[in-house]
Amino acid sequence: MTIPMSGADIGDAEVDAVVGVLRSGALSIGPQVELFEAAAAKVANTSHGIAVSSGTAGLHLGLIAAGVTPGTAVITSPFSFVASTNVILYEDAIPVFVDVQGTTGNIDPQLVAQAADALAAGGVVASEWLPPNAVTPVVLKTILPVHVYGEMADMTSISATAKRHAVTLMEDACEALGARNDGSPAGSCGDAAVFAFYPNKQMTTGEGGMIVTSRDDWAALFRSLRNQGRDVHDAWLRHSRLGYNYRLDEMSAALGLVQIRRIEELLANRARVAGWYHDRLSGIDEIVIPPRPSASERSWFVYVVQLGDDVDRDQVMRELQDRGVPSRSYFEPIHLQPYIRERFGYRPGMYPVAERLGRISLALPFSGTLREAQVEHVCGALRAALSSSDRRRQG
Ligand SMILES: *Cc1c(COP(=O)(O)O)cnc(C)c1O
Repeated sequence: MTIPMSGADIGDAEVDAVVGVLRSGALSIGPQVELFEAAAAKVANTSHGIAVSSGTAGLHLGLIAAGVTPGTAVITSPFSFVASTNVILYEDAIPVFVDVQGTTGNIDPQLVAQAADALAAGGVVASEWLPPNAVTPVVLKTILPVHVYGEMADMTSISATAKRHAVTLMEDACEALGARNDGSPAGSCGDAAVFAFYPNKQMTTGEGGMIVTSRDDWAALFRSLRNQGRDVHDAWLRHSRLGYNYRLDEMSAALGLVQIRRIEELLANRARVAGWYHDRLSGIDEIVIPPRPSASERSWFVYVVQLGDDVDRDQVMRELQDRGVPSRSYFEPIHLQPYIRERFGYRPGMYPVAERLGRISLALPFSGTLREAQVEHVCGALRAALSSSDRRRQG
């Protein structure tokens, strides 16, 4: 039995839609992008969707709209895919990491509040929250929480902090299309949010991303920035500002439009697979598993279990592989990535919760197209690997 780590759910409708674009001759700046944007805004309960070439591109433009410039600060999570911090570095700004919650891996809202207060106070108080190599003073420009694994960060609390300090709030919702927090959909809680459509996400466009916002001023700015800085009323070769080519092409948008129209079905399929895992793994003492799908507002992006602190994860991964089961360690904390350490002077031990999660987390094969027999096989292989790990420890 071969088991893929992840996989997109592409049907005939998707294939037909892409072929239709190819036959139409309108391959960029056409109707598919507009339809896709409207559908995405609806899912996020916002007034605007702005399609872009990747989630990373969308986050980059979000920070530009937030006024992030060299030397300013962005409060964000060290437990994320590296793109959420890279975009801060694109603008030569300073990522101010705060640690995460051990249960969800999401940024700790209390620490966000403390960090924002400290940065506002300045001086020594602020420097305790800054990277070791950063020079004070810095001005906080925006807060960028990440909805890790499809579960939203505590947006009620974080948005209260943003309001109190009169800074904007961006959601990295790249892993959370369709998720909710106290009933509010991902994408609706900040000044802007970004979804991503790489093939392992809940829905795909191949490569691609989407900014959603209810701010008219930001929506217009995003449309300009993604299109070489051209304003709507600019003549074809007239550019009002420095921009980028972050456009999404029509083939990708056509694919995305079919996928987003199927989003309820795609999410339900993923939740069903998560349920199969839940049924089979909930009896195992050695691991901590995510909440039961029916009891959660999560949009299932990955299925990640936490191993015991004394389990040799590499060995477990090797034994899974021997049984044909791929797995991944999620995430290596961002502050310990080599170039981030070198630039900002971070050391192990500075964000202990993120670091522990980075050591014990294991992502199992996951997609909406996995079959129950495949999940059964993965769980059998995991049980075997854990019991051989038990035996090794007992000696
Ligand atoms: C996938 C992802 C991104 C980036 O998306 P791309 O489309 O690959 O650029 C950003 N942040 C997080 C948390 C992600 O999981």
